Amino acid sequence: MDMQATLEEIVKAVAPLKGQGTVASYIPSLGGVPPEKFGICVAMADGPVYGAGDWHEPFSIQSISKVFSLALVMARDYDSIWKRVFREPSGTPFNSLVQLEADKGIPRNPFINAGAIVVTDRLLTLTGDAAGSIRGLLRQEAGNPTIDIDATVAASEARHGHRNAAMAHLLASFGNLENPVDDVLANYFDQCALAMCCEDLALSARFLARQGVSTGGSPFLSPNQSKRVNAVMLTCGTYDAAGEFAYRVGLPGKSGVGGGIVAIVPGRCSIAVWGPELDANGNSVVGTAALDEFTTRTGWSVF
Ligand code: GLU
Repeated sequence: MDMQATLEEIVKAVAPLKGQGTVASYIPSLGGVPPEKFGICVAMADGPVYGAGDWHEPFSIQSISKVFSLALVMARDYDSIWKRVFREPSGTPFNSLVQLEADKGIPRNPFINAGAIVVTDRLLTLTGDAAGSIRGLLRQEAGNPTIDIDATVAASEARHGHRNAAMAHLLASFGNLENPVDDVLANYFDQCALAMCCEDLALSARFLARQGVSTGGSPFLSPNQSKRVNAVMLTCGTYDAAGEFAYRVGLPGKSGVGGGIVAIVPGRCSIAVWGPELDANGNSVVGTAALDEFTTRTGWSVF
């Protein structure tokens, strides 16, 4: 297969879908991103990297950062995070407070906001700098020391992050935070505001296609842990549409409201796509379609 040609064909095939979604604007500084952008990158497990479209343009990774915080906590703490977070699809929106109250402060999974805030809290305890340690992992895996937090996006979210603040306080009221609410939120907003391009993102997530082996060749996660992170991505990684995403794409994936999606073909490659317009569930319209095209054309799916 000519991977480069395949990616260029996918860019053309999905172009007519532009204009069908909405750029997230509840974090005001995300609202100004040009809606027509689209990039795709495939990082093969054994080295080669292919890309097409706007694959070198940085974007806000938002909830995709939750994959890396979870991996860092599991690498250090093995399974203990699962005493504080479940791993079931939530069936409610990613920022819902209702379920957290009913479940007595134990979030349904680490990829909805409440669960991610607990993971960030644990990473803060373990490292003293949760957002900085995620940035360090991304820089190391992508081989790009310029990857950084977009301070404008972080400040914009902090100013408008009332719902996340409410969630963090609710978690604290149930005794499910180890650190002060303000410190945890600052790290959470910073990690969501990490900006990177499709190439950096595909390279950063590639350890999940390599049974946990990092870019440098050393084990970052065990094969077992890598399997588990992929499983949580498959079941909980694309908001309230994980079933639809599995049906269309057939891969573990994690999306963010910045319009990025990272998907993993275990043993073969990691894929990053970015298209800022989101569907009603918060997943990139063009990005999901491109991943559907990718698995349909290549036959590379976990099913
Ligand atoms: N920072 C965003 C929030 O907490 C992340 C949402 C997302 O990408 O799902 O609302």
